Amino acid sequence: MKGPRVVVIGGGAAGLMAAGRAAEKGARVVLVEKNQTLGAKLLLSGKGRCNLTSAEEDLDTFLSAFGPKGKFLYSAFSRFGPAETLEFFSSRGLRTKVERGKRVFPEKGGSERVINCLIDYIRQGGVTVYRNREALNLEIRDGRAVRFILRGQEVEGDAFIICTGGKSFPRTGSTGDGYRFAKRAGHQILQPVPALCPVRLKEKWPQTARGLNLKNVSLTLLKDGTVVSRRFGELLLTHFGISGPIAMDMSRDIGEAYSTGNAALLLDLKPALPLDVLTARIGRDLEKYAGKMFRDCLKDLLPGGIIPAVVEKATVPPDKKAEYISPEEKNELARLLKEYPLTPDGLLGFDWSIVTSGGVDLKEIDPRTMGSKIVENLYFAGEILDLDGPTGGFNLQMCWSTGFVAGDSAALSACREN
Ligand SMILES: Cc1cc2nc3c(=O)[nH]c(=O)nc-3n(C[C@H](O)[C@H](O)[C@H](O)COP(=O)(O)OP(=O)(O)OC[C@H]3O[C@@H](n4cnc5c(N)ncnc54)[C@H](O)[C@@H]3O)c2cc1C
Repeated sequence: MKGPRVVVIGGGAAGLMAAGRAAEKGARVVLVEKNQTLGAKLLLSGKGRCNLTSAEEDLDTFLSAFGPKGKFLYSAFSRFGPAETLEFFSSRGLRTKVERGKRVFPEKGGSERVINCLIDYIRQGGVTVYRNREALNLEIRDGRAVRFILRGQEVEGDAFIICTGGKSFPRTGSTGDGYRFAKRAGHQILQPVPALCPVRLKEKWPQTARGLNLKNVSLTLLKDGTVVSRRFGELLLTHFGISGPIAMDMSRDIGEAYSTGNAALLLDLKPALPLDVLTARIGRDLEKYAGKMFRDCLKDLLPGGIIPAVVEKATVPPDKKAEYISPEEKNELARLLKEYPLTPDGLLGFDWSIVTSGGVDLKEIDPRTMGSKIVENLYFAGEILDLDGPTGGFNLQMCWSTGFVAGDSAALSACREN
């Protein structure tokens, strides 16, 4: 069979979108994936429910989630942004719903439904999938990519798209191989580091409260005594420390503060209540529980799993009767609930980080095409690029947008060659 040929390396979110789009534009597409299955990481995303985008409607606000690098995405998002993503999935029968924090999920089922839509897309385009086939090396001749060396085989193409992801959750296949291919093509790689990563704590008590999801709490990071960042939302206690959206979203700052200074965290268990209101509330609870010991008086105020940690840290003896607790002790208890101290002990690393920060330097990529400025028929999409956003569907949206544009441009480039 003759015709323009596009080779896509990596069958994750970005690679599936890129392959489907290149085929839709008329290219013969080969998708190479080293796993037996496609979309291994997608399957785990959103705890198996797949938070596939964000319902944030303002483009500037959406892109600011990626920090200053967000402006690189303007062009791609203008062509295939959140609205086009929703249209893409809904036209394939996937209805979505918006949950807290503007997170968009499939209305029914989970990640496998998202993967099935993408598999339908590549099937419709007649994409040839090489499964269990690891790409080993990219061959470049006279400034053009000519072939990929796979384990046991070679594949030639007119255009190539590298979508091998970052280094996070390497058990899903994302082991950073693409950085090697990009370097070979002459690209700079900005040091990949774990981002959106659970945080290890020196304190051991979270172990006994593991699995407890604290809703509507706030976490403040201090570096050398100065406030660096503050987040409000959900925090998950785990056997090693903390996870969940606010810990993950703060993890980059926490990692930085931990490695370069004296990092400390303050957990506000009652951010909606000012200190005086909280002190009065504690007073009312203690009156209600007159005759009971202090350790048994907090169940109206706090989830059971965290009460032992609060009682242990409070200055009030656990067995003191409620009616004997002094005004100073009530004040101190209120302060403790507003500023419960936690001590970071590093991040969990790539094995558990949701995304990788760093990657292919954006300065060497054309934001309108996702094409390399160094090798003319080479394209990149997804997490391999030096782009990472917070939790909430931002990272997958980046994969859909860059994947779509890369597929489109690679097909065009391949057609020009034929
Ligand atoms: C547990 C978890 C939950 C997440 N939840 C969400 C969420 O709900 N919402 C959200 O927006 N983001 C979420 N993310 C982040 C999001 O899933 C990723 O950013 C996104 O999947 C990256 O897609 P990608 O296509 O760039 O790379 P990947 O999904 O990593 O895909 C890369 C593919 O390339 C293949 N590959 C690698 N090297 C080679 C090679 N040499 N040869 C052949 N194939 C190769 C890999 O096997 C892999 O299949 C989550 C991440 C994790 C780990």
